[in-house]
Amino acid sequence: MQPTYQNYIAGAFVGTPDEPTIDVTNPATQELIARVPDASAATVDAAVAAARRAQPAWEKLPPIQRAGHLRAIAAKLREHRTELARVIVREQGKVQGLAQVEVDFTADYIDYMAEWARRLEGEVLTSDRPNESIFLLRKPVGVVAGILPWNFPFFLIARKLAPALVTGNTIVIKPSEETPINAFEFARLVAETDLPAGVFNLVGGRGATAGEALVSHPGVDLITFTGSVATGSRIMQTAGRNLTRVNLELGGKAPAIVLADADLDLAAKAIYDSRVINTGQVCNCAERVYVERGVHDALVDRLAKLFAATRYGDPSVEADLHMGPLVNQAGLDKVAAMVEQARSDGARIVVGGKRADLGRGFHYEPTLITGTRADMDIMRKEIFGPVLPVQAVDDLDEAIALANDSEYGLTSSIFTRSLDSAMRAARELRFGETYINREHFEAMQGFHAGRRKSGIGGADGKHGLYEFTETHVVYLQTS
Ligand code: NAD
Repeated sequence: MQPTYQNYIAGAFVGTPDEPTIDVTNPATQELIARVPDASAATVDAAVAAARRAQPAWEKLPPIQRAGHLRAIAAKLREHRTELARVIVREQGKVQGLAQVEVDFTADYIDYMAEWARRLEGEVLTSDRPNESIFLLRKPVGVVAGILPWNFPFFLIARKLAPALVTGNTIVIKPSEETPINAFEFARLVAETDLPAGVFNLVGGRGATAGEALVSHPGVDLITFTGSVATGSRIMQTAGRNLTRVNLELGGKAPAIVLADADLDLAAKAIYDSRVINTGQVCNCAERVYVERGVHDALVDRLAKLFAATRYGDPSVEADLHMGPLVNQAGLDKVAAMVEQARSDGARIVVGGKRADLGRGFHYEPTLITGTRADMDIMRKEIFGPVLPVQAVDDLDEAIALANDSEYGLTSSIFTRSLDSAMRAARELRFGETYINREHFEAMQGFHAGRRKSGIGGADGKHGLYEFTETHVVYLQTS
């Protein structure tokens, strides 16, 4: 018998026997592993109401005490780190090592955000009048709705919850219907701490049901969403009805530029790592390569060796894999269709190029493609799978122009030994992040923010923290 989880509202797990449930399966085996609720509008309303009731007292609590609650949650996660990683492996298909990194990073992230408790600052401004003081206060927004994707499902809980809570907000989280179990396990651990009821609430459900109910709810003050451009755009339209603030972390099509003077071994390994991690399902993954013509073949040879040596399979039974399956049938079909399209557009498949037949599960071969052109979909649309297209360019000018010619603007990278070229790329690439001579992966103290259709606002560090606050300017006139 598979477990059926319950929504976590106002500090208690609440049964809703009349509501439909969602089957959660293991993408490596297609076996049913659990059921979660598909929350109705009434359930979402109860969760938002609980968050609203809890917010004023939570805001009054000194930040250092709020941080204490966050640290207690982080400690719980560490106590259960192995089981939590196992859950992520089973429901998302992540390889074991990366699932463990995700759990540990999540606990570290919560502790990092807790450290801001004594560093939250307002400003004192000069006045044009005698005997007046002007204070700019930073206050919580109120009730936050956090809507999560499936690719780093556990970490994304922390990326929403920790900055929201330390700044005095309360939160309602809706995980992805593909990977909700880890969030319900998170709630189970939160319930073992003494976090006040209603500060954190969790509702399961699909985007069209629970998701819509949450983002259209007038009791929500800020929607922080991570997911696709299409859903982000829809959420922004829905939020427009109530003029609810949005923070959107959306898709990417990250370019990696390799110049002729680069360390090619380093470049190939960093790009490869950034492409197969999480089976290519990462928003900041290297999604397209522009390499100077003179070193094109040398880079492709190195990449081909790495791609061909990729170990993939079912991570719930095999340790030490580079890749697991794609998350679902739709993800697999999309990747397969994009590679077929590239092939018929005239691109050359160097390694891979088809579904991997492992008997069951949504596996795709690690795939390296060359001979692409800028107008091909494989160079323009987000692949979100283990497929890397490589295009030769004449020089840095052409590489920067092609990199910037994208509707996405999340991350980018350049490999070169020239400080001048690296700094030119840093000045001219129009992306939220640029990695120089290293793989694509952000730090918690940075600021992860996309330009163009990659999003609005950002996450992490001081700037991400302040996305969860509002300013309040107070003018004090004395005599
Ligand atoms: P998705 O947009 O399909 O779903 C994300 C979440 O939105 C899910 O919880 C879903 O239930 C919910 N949702 C769907 N429709 C909704 C609606 N109408 N109203 C409210 N909620 C709704 O995205 P996904 O497939 O889960 O994630 C993959 C995408 O996320 C990729 O495009 C990837 O690039 C992006 N992503 C971005 C970042 C970042 O930091 N920029 C990080 C991870 C993933």
